Amino acid sequence: MALEQILPSLYRVPLRGVNAFLIDLGDEGLVLVDAGTPGDAGRILDAVGELGRGPDDVRHILVTHCHVDHAGGLAELKEATGARAYMHPTDAEMVRSGRALRPLTPTPGILNRATFWLLLRNAPSTLRATEVEHEVLDGELLALGGDIRAVHVPGHCAGQLAFLWSGGGHGGVLFAADAAANVAGLRLSPAHEDLEEGKRSAKKLAGLDFEAACFGHGRAIPRGASERSGKTFGANLATPATR
Ligand SMILES: [Zn+2]
Ligand SMILES: [Zn+2]
Repeated sequence: MALEQILPSLYRVPLRGVNAFLIDLGDEGLVLVDAGTPGDAGRILDAVGELGRGPDDVRHILVTHCHVDHAGGLAELKEATGARAYMHPTDAEMVRSGRALRPLTPTPGILNRATFWLLLRNAPSTLRATEVEHEVLDGELLALGGDIRAVHVPGHCAGQLAFLWSGGGHGGVLFAADAAANVAGLRLSPAHEDLEEGKRSAKKLAGLDFEAACFGHGRAIPRGASERSGKTFGANLATPATR
């Protein structure tokens, strides 16, 4: 199975160390959130097939940020599906020119440093350039599936967007991107361009109202996610999230 159901009409596609997500909007087709690493397109299209859909049913690809594990498969997926891509202008500019990375530093904490040195230090800085049709700003409402709101969450990556999907009758689903991860507990990303900005972004997300949360890395939280985020990121961020 290339697919894990999180809620009715919401699916996680576990890839190599990163997640993509599919929202099934019925007659409106499919929304893909993030495009994986180069070479992941086949697995994402397998997941689309498991839903009884074809590549043409993927109409919209929301890309949270320019890092290669989220935007690396975008060019190939756009070719395969004909879907239109949505990104924040700051990172759309990166993807259009084939750039995937600005300098990152490790987040404090032993696990963060280990992850950074093992996995992120040598992350590719380039990807296959492709067009991004829709530039999406903070607070913008996308008329997809009964509204998906973009939330600009810089820090891990300057042009990073989270998305809050209020449709589907799930009480709100947050796609947190890498503004938070659910690996060994709910925490900040192990690497940031600007840690203080990342903390502010995590607090911004914790202040939103949602029931489920999906992360670029780690498992989704199908219920009570807003409350858990509030506890983790709301009051004293430094203690639990950077341990
Ligand atoms: Zn990232
Ligand atoms: Zn990532």
